[in-house]
Amino acid sequence: MIKKLEGQFVVPGEKLGVVEEFMPGPGTVEVEGNVYSTQIGRASLDLNRHIVTVKTVAGPPVLPVEGSTVIGVVQNAQEKMAIINIIAVDGKTLEPPFTGMLHISSASPKFERAMSDVCKPVDIIRAKVIDDTQRIPKLTTAGHGLGVIKAFCSRCGGNLVLSGRILRCDICRNVERRRLADDFGTWTGGTN
Ligand SMILES: [Zn+2]
Repeated sequence: MIKKLEGQFVVPGEKLGVVEEFMPGPGTVEVEGNVYSTQIGRASLDLNRHIVTVKTVAGPPVLPVEGSTVIGVVQNAQEKMAIINIIAVDGKTLEPPFTGMLHISSASPKFERAMSDVCKPVDIIRAKVIDDTQRIPKLTTAGHGLGVIKAFCSRCGGNLVLSGRILRCDICRNVERRRLADDFGTWTGGTN
């Protein structure tokens, strides 16, 4: 019983054992010799002191909702639409990733004809969720701080680097266009 309990996910009211096995610690209660969990979490046993505790697990799973700021990898870019693999929401890592959709009309504050002028596959973008009512949330990169935060050369895969207003590959010198975030080039792999 004791070994099986360690690390197990438990809910309030779930019987963890009897006081002869261990004493009730934080997150548990003893009622008539039985020890019950008082919260949702994982059971933890202190085998030296014979105490059982229940530690709450991190809150509900993070989901992109309207107004969330997300970090995503461009998975697929067609002429008018891009599919984005959302990897972080409001600073929290999303595991597993969640798919979002960026339409050309929401991609830039000015009119863009083709998604290839906004982003390309494997670019990293920062976007905001503008509609979460569909199965796949709709994103925008038109606002302040939004857009491509890291981009790769579509010819050789090298890093695109901004020099003045020219976005150029640091390996093959290819010049490309993107809808860049204000802080393009400063992103170092975080969740923001
Ligand atoms: Zn290149």
